[in-house]
This record gives sequence, C-alpha cells and structure tokens, in this order.
Amino acid sequence: PTAASATQGISVTTRLINQHGLHARPAARFVQAAAVFESNILVENITKQKGPVAARSLNAVATLGAVGGHEVRLTANGPDAEAALQAVKALIETGFGELETSPVSAPQPPAPMTTIHQEQNRAVPVSEGIALGPLYCYQPPRPTIPTEPTENAENDWQSLQKALRTTHDSIQARNLQMKRVLSADEAMIFEAHLLILQDPELIEAARRGIFEENMNASAAWSAAFTAAAESYRQLDDDYLRLRAADVEDVGTQVLFALAGKSTSEKIQLPEPVILFAQDLTPTETSQLDMDQVLGILTSAGGPTSHSAILARALGIPSLAGTGKIIDRRDAGKFVALNGFTGEIWIDPPDALRIDLKRQRDLWLDEREALLTRSLELGATKDGRRIEVFANIGSLADAQAAVKNGAEGVGLLRTEFLFLTRQTPPSEEEQFLLLSQIFETLGDRPVTVRTLDVGGDKNLPYIQLPQEANPFLGVRALRLSLNQPDLFLPQLRAFLRAAVDHSCRIMFPMVADVNEIRQARAWLEKAHQQLTEDHIEHAWPIEVGIMVEIPSAALLSSNLASEVDFFSIGTNDLTQYTLAAERGNPQLAYLADGLHPAVLRLIGEVAQSAHALQKWAGICGELGGDPAAAPILVGLGIDELSLNPAGIPRIKALLRGFTIPEAQEIAQQALRAQTSAEVRALAKEFLLARSL
Ligand code: PEP
Ligand code: MG
Repeated sequence: PTAASATQGISVTTRLINQHGLHARPAARFVQAAAVFESNILVENITKQKGPVAARSLNAVATLGAVGGHEVRLTANGPDAEAALQAVKALIETGFGELETSPVSAPQPPAPMTTIHQEQNRAVPVSEGIALGPLYCYQPPRPTIPTEPTENAENDWQSLQKALRTTHDSIQARNLQMKRVLSADEAMIFEAHLLILQDPELIEAARRGIFEENMNASAAWSAAFTAAAESYRQLDDDYLRLRAADVEDVGTQVLFALAGKSTSEKIQLPEPVILFAQDLTPTETSQLDMDQVLGILTSAGGPTSHSAILARALGIPSLAGTGKIIDRRDAGKFVALNGFTGEIWIDPPDALRIDLKRQRDLWLDEREALLTRSLELGATKDGRRIEVFANIGSLADAQAAVKNGAEGVGLLRTEFLFLTRQTPPSEEEQFLLLSQIFETLGDRPVTVRTLDVGGDKNLPYIQLPQEANPFLGVRALRLSLNQPDLFLPQLRAFLRAAVDHSCRIMFPMVADVNEIRQARAWLEKAHQQLTEDHIEHAWPIEVGIMVEIPSAALLSSNLASEVDFFSIGTNDLTQYTLAAERGNPQLAYLADGLHPAVLRLIGEVAQSAHALQKWAGICGELGGDPAAAPILVGLGIDELSLNPAGIPRIKALLRGFTIPEAQEIAQQALRAQTSAEVRALAKEFLLARSL
C-alpha cells in the first residue's frame, strides 16, 4: 500500500530479498528502472537508518549499505509517481532476477568471494607448461594528476565532459565485446561501470571542484571519485566495500582520457609473477616486462586470441577465460596454473606446491632437451622433409625463432611492428626495422604479410570505419586496397629490405582472384616507382596468399595459377567456416581447426597447390598444435609455421611417424563428424607412439 505525504509525494516500504541487496548489479538495475520515470524517486535504508538518497545516483544507492533482509522505503514525487513506485518495488520483490541465490529473510553476510574458486577451477588452456608464483593484476597505471589550479574553469569543465564521453564510448565498446565473451550477467558489470560514470552526484562533485575550488579537471575528477570510492570503503558490508575498486577503475579511465591517450610507458613488474589481465592487447603486452612473467591468465580471450598467440610465442604457460575463477581481488595470492590441462590453483597447500614445482622443473628440463635437437631440419620418421618455420611479430620474436631452430619465417605479422605509434610509420622506418629482422634471420626465407588490421587487430593510427560486423568488414587486404597511402610505402619498404635476402610476400584475407590481381598491380607499381627512382630493391619476388576465407579454399584450384604458394590461416579459416568467433571462450569447443569441415578445406588447398607444383603451408595456430601435426602432414601440408617456442616439440613429433601413417590418420579425420572425434583419434595416434 502506498502512503500519501504532503511534501514528499507517495511512499512505500518493502524488504530486500536477494542476498546482496542493492550492490552493483541489482543497484544498476534499480537505477536504470528508476530513470525511466519522470518522478523523482528517493530510497532510504530503514534498517540501517541511512538515506534517503536519489535513486538516480548509483553510488548513493549502493552506499546505503542495503543488503538482503534490510527494509527500505521508496518515495516518489511527480506525475507518474504511482507507476514508478510499483515498478521499482516489483523489481525489489522479484529479487532483481537474482534469486538463484537463496532468498533471505534476515540480514546475513554475503558469501565470501573466495568460495567460488573451489567450485570451478578449470579455464581454457592456451599455452602449455606449468607456472606458479604470486598473482599480479595488470591495470593500466594512473596518469599523474597535475596540481595547478584551473586557468579557465569553463575549459576544464568542457574537457572533463569530453573525457567522460570518450570513456563512455570505450566502456560501451568493451561492454558489447564482453557480452559476446561472457554471459550477459557477467557483462552487467560494465553496465554498472557506465552508471558510475554517469552518476549525477559524482559529476556534480567534480563540477564544484572546478568552479568553486578552482581545481583543474583531473584534480577535481580525481578528488570526486576518490571520495566516492572512500564512501564505499566505509561500509560494513564486505561485498559493498569491494565496489570501491569499480569506482576507481572507472575513475582512472577518465583520468587517462583527460591525459589525452592511453600510456605507452613501460610497466615494471616487481618480481617474477603470474600475470592476470582482462585480456592483453598487443599494445599492453608491448609495455609489460615479459621476462618477469611466469604465467598468464586472462579473464576473456580464447585459444587463438592475440594474447594467447603471444603467450605461446614467448613460451609462457597460459590460460584464458578465467572469468569466474579469478579476479583482481586475488592480487598477491599464490597461484599455480597448468597450461596443458587448464587447471588453476589458488593458495595451494604446501605439498601440492612442491609437487607443482617439481612438474614445472620436469617441463623445463624436457624443453631444454628438445631445444638441442631442434637445430636439425624438420622431417618425418621416413625422411620426408617438412619445413618448420616461425610466426613472428617483432625483432625479439625473430631472435626467439633462430634460437628455437626455425628454418625460416612463415608469417611476419607486420601490423605488430608499430603498435605504440600514433601516426603511420614512414617507408624509411619500416625499411629499417624489416632490414634488422631479415638480418637476424640470415639466409632463412622470410614471409612478410602485408598489413592485416581490423576484426581482432587494431592500430592507433588507423581509423577503421564503424561497422556492424568488423570481422566481416573492410579489413586486412580490403583495407590496404582502399588505402594506397598505407599500402604502397609498405610494399616499397619491403622490396627494398628484401635485397640480398630470401623473401616472400603474402596478402591476408584474400576472398577471390580479383583481389590477388589488384594487390599484384600495387606491387608492380611499387617496383616501377623504385626502378624509376633508381632505388635498389629485390625483384622479382615470390608472391603468395593466405587462405583464411572459405571461398579462397574452395576456389584454390583456380587461384593456384595466380600465386607461388598458399599459406593457410586456420585461425580465421576456422572462425569463418564454423561461424564461431576466435576470441570467444564459450565457443572454443567449436572454433577448433581440427574440425573435419576445416580439415577438408585444408586437404583441398594442399591438392590444388600440388597439382600446379606449388606448395601449401599452415600459419594459423593449428600449425603449432601437436595433435594436428600428423593429420596436417597426412593431408599434404609442406610447411608448418608456428610460434617459435613450439618448434622443438613439433620437430620431435615429426620424427615420430611416417608419411603412410600420417596419411591414414588424415583419412580417418576427414571421415569424423566433430573436432572432438578428431582430437580423440589424434590422442590415440600420439599415445601409441609415445609422442
Ligand atoms: C590466421 O588467421 O590463421 C592467421 C595466421 O592470421 P591472424 O591470426 O594474424 O589473423
Ligand atoms: Mg588471419
């Protein structure tokens, strides 16, 4: 029943029945529901005698400390007061849809966050090995806050608003991305972050700081959100106290936006650690001191996301999709992970710790032994040569490739060379870096891929168009063909650096013959220009394409006459064949390159190449997957290109089977129905040979 009040509109009391009451997610729903109405809604915690506060302020609502069992009073004043009260009351009485946690009738402390660790301790394995050490949570560092007073309050106020908008857009983008990766409920945290960001009381506090206390925008904003975070810390509820971290997270993002960009400073790690991050963008990884990283855990990401590729390249044990198992609050705890099985241990008992340490030592010893034999050429047991090449994205990777016994480079991801730049690198800069990489590889062949941006790979200096489906949009070669200003200097730099080296060039994401002809025309043009300018360069040059769109695989028999080689990008080929995004851990079971559908395409590409005396390689992550090696060789693949650290293992494997054996398992795999069936076959094959 609603009670009328002369000055304050109408009010109603009710009890919170969901366990955590008005904490971040329910509070976010509550604030969103209240915002729909024109009436002004207030909420008060009767049990704790706190409030009333405005229902439109998430921070204010959450800091009422209202948990399960508490009685609250809702008051609405305005034209739609009755409807507003009914709506928010209904939301409370249905437990915000969170009643899977048992309803409560009296206050009780929320379950400690650590209990979930025991319930579920497996994530997606992405890079093999065992690692243990203290957990370090990666967060972009805070920019320094200027202390000078504002020179022009209005300007500072405008910059703050602009920074709030920029942050809003980037949280929104992450929200959309995370909804694809996490469940809608887990992604709800980003909605809460948006509400924190838009909180009128927080913004008002910052505005007062600027106009009334003459603070600059960063200082005023920092003071406002630090105070809001502090008020969370004062609460007696453990769960709510932890929400302070969310306010600080959002607040820091705004400080970055105010500082004009994300930092590119190096981040020093205090000691060898297990690194935990939401997902590591290539830019972030380039800032981290990876020598100090024993293992990597990412809450998002999948086995072919770029943080996974990087972990494998560095030989660092790693798991992805740890969303429910670990979070920032575990910082500093002792953590162990098994990159073969996906297991995670938090604070394991001493005996287990000792055992895990022993397993790690064994793994490192075995790795060392393999490394010694890896300097031999790749070949099967019966002597068929299989080239074992490396995928690289930097000079450091090139050095790792040589050390691990790579016979060449099957894929140089050029988009990784200039990640932290805000403007495109000049032809000269590209020439210099490519020359260094070629020098490092000596006379080993190097396959350079032209720029592949878009989808999962972005560069700060390339503005991509807003598209509904970026993975299906203007990306990779399509973008290069649209932007000769980027494409031509890259081709010229490449031809120049290739002098006296054994080099090949390759175009990413080719869909059909038209694109090959256009790309070749630009390459011809680069050659002509250099000739006219009397600049030394390599010519002619071997040209290949990446087969990573199903159309290119299906048409490979036509395309073979247009190229010197095919390199199959199984990461993208798999995602496009199975319509399963490569970075989505929930689809890891489907986005598996060992799916018979993908294997059929691979077999077809190898046949098309051989029919015209060309060759076909694999440069997707499947090329480094031990389970895949016999099958790929059996399908006729001539070259495997993989992360440098994986090379010794793959070479050892190749030495363990013959071509007829490989052909037989390949035929069985083609007849299988699912990737799980193929994996079972492969496991049996390797076990039978103790590989
Ligand atoms: C692939 O798609 O398999 C590939 C090797 O390219 P990238 O992972 O860089 O998209
Ligand atoms: Mg690709």
